[in-house]
Order: sequence, then C-alpha cells, then structure tokens
Amino acid sequence: MSRYSDDTLVLTLVRQSHAVLDELGLPRTFTIAEVHRSVERRRGRRIHLIAHPLPPDGPHGLWVMGETDDYVFYEQAAPPLRKLQIIGHEFGHIVFDDEGTPLSGRGRTLSACTRTVYDDMVEQRCEWFGSVMVQRIDHSAPLLLPHR
Ligand SMILES: [Zn+2]
Repeated sequence: MSRYSDDTLVLTLVRQSHAVLDELGLPRTFTIAEVHRSVERRRGRRIHLIAHPLPPDGPHGLWVMGETDDYVFYEQAAPPLRKLQIIGHEFGHIVFDDEGTPLSGRGRTLSACTRTVYDDMVEQRCEWFGSVMVQRIDHSAPLLLPHR
C-alpha cells in the first residue's frame, strides 16, 4: 500500500468509524468515560487505561489482554488530544476485534502500534477510528479518566 491512501478509502474508513460508534449506542458527542464504558460492554471485560512512558521509537499505544482484564497503555508524555487519539486507536482494535500476536507468558499483547506500521490497513483503520472518536468527544468534560 502506498504511504498515502486515496480519498475514497479515507472516506470509507471515516464512515465506518462513525457507524461503529453509533452501533455502540453512543450519542453524537460523548465523554471519554462514556466511550470507555461502551467499549468495555462490547468487549465484556474491564479495560484499564494506563499512562506509561514508552520509548520514542517504540509503540505509542499497546493493547494487552490479561487473564481477566484488558489493558490499554498510552504514551504519558503525549499531548492530551493525542493521548485520546492513541486510546481511540486501541479501542479501534478492540471493537474491530483484531487478532493479535500471542505473547509468551500469561498475557497476550494484542496490538503494539507504531507509526512505522501505519501503512498497514488495520493500523490506518484504527488511526481513523481514533481521530473520529476524538472529534466526537465532548471537550468540555474532563479529558482523561482517573487511574483505576
Ligand atoms: Zn494499532
């Protein structure tokens, strides 16, 4: 795939993102807490959102499946909207039910997202999902959830 996707593809991915957010039962605008709860309901597991320092050349977000709960790690130094977009990107992997790479040990890293794999179709779709999610977030509400 070329570095820049064509406009038809972008429009398709944007429409698909809106459709998935609608399917989750979300209103036109929502808070990060609301979309978080909706994705947890769809997934049937708790999803912990954890700010964590990540190496500059490494992934900017990670979705890890533990034994009972899921974990989404996002770069703690990212600006607030970028953090939301990273979380939205990982939510994209979760709601689109992407397959991950099995990891030895007790957990499974389902996605480790870097810009270098952005050209990959799955990554592009999740990047647009994150962007659409950020656009629909009510930015008068607190932007990030407290740790839990
Ligand atoms: Zn990704």
